[in-house]
Amino acid sequence: QRTRIDIVSIFPAFLDVLDLSLIGRAREDGLIDLRIHDLRDWAHDRHRTVDDTPLGGGAGMVMRPDVWGEALDAVLAGGPEAPGAGRAVLLIPTPAGEVFTQRTAEDLARADRLVVACGRYEGIDSRVPRHYAARGFEVRELSIGDYVLNGGEAAAIVMIEAIARLLPGVVGNPASVLEESHSAAGLLEHEALTRPVAWRGLDAPEVLLSGDHARIARARRDEALARTAARRPDMIRALDPATLDSQDRTT
Ligand code: SAM
Repeated sequence: QRTRIDIVSIFPAFLDVLDLSLIGRAREDGLIDLRIHDLRDWAHDRHRTVDDTPLGGGAGMVMRPDVWGEALDAVLAGGPEAPGAGRAVLLIPTPAGEVFTQRTAEDLARADRLVVACGRYEGIDSRVPRHYAARGFEVRELSIGDYVLNGGEAAAIVMIEAIARLLPGVVGNPASVLEESHSAAGLLEHEALTRPVAWRGLDAPEVLLSGDHARIARARRDEALARTAARRPDMIRALDPATLDSQDRTT
């Protein structure tokens, strides 16, 4: 069935890139029903204000809970128990959230509906996620990494792209999303090489031309283990020993 994704932002044009490439195609093919909303449509004053100064003082502006409340009530209409609603997740990008990983993407790819609330300024009033969680919605405050962006739109694009490519039919060859860095094997993927075999004095490993699939698989696995150990020792430490085979060397 198709996944419905709603994004609420004060910069809807920022999300125009979701018309392009695989996500654009998935929308055209009806695999994803993606709708973008302008938060200011739920503001009431002449200036369409969505923010106010922080309670307690300090720098910057905070996004108002009343405006966000009206917007999210409208977009989430029907409530968590609405018949046919399926699993709806309210996703709030924030650098103060739990870190979004491939596991998070796999989990959210199983949702029927995602509603993404993009913050700006100092973020959305903290009572907003609390309110929707108390009403029974599944609320996920997620960070795409330990750095601070100006707004949630770029983070929303990152998360939606990672989630959407796991949906059936979005990526042409389903095998290509299973054997990648950060997939279930818990390793970085082996290096990628194509023709020409010799390029600027660099030769591709001979084994890749051997046609011997077992040898190629072994060489690729050895290379994946070696580059994971070199680049991401934390991933080697986190490996589940049950995923290793008897010929694997992890040191
Ligand atoms: N004052 C907030 C704090 O220190 O936690 C940062 C607000 S940030 C300038 C504005 C918005 O950008 C956030 O509300 C969020 O939507 C988005 N954002 C910034 N960094 C992010 C990150 N690492 N992951 C996800 N969203 C992020």
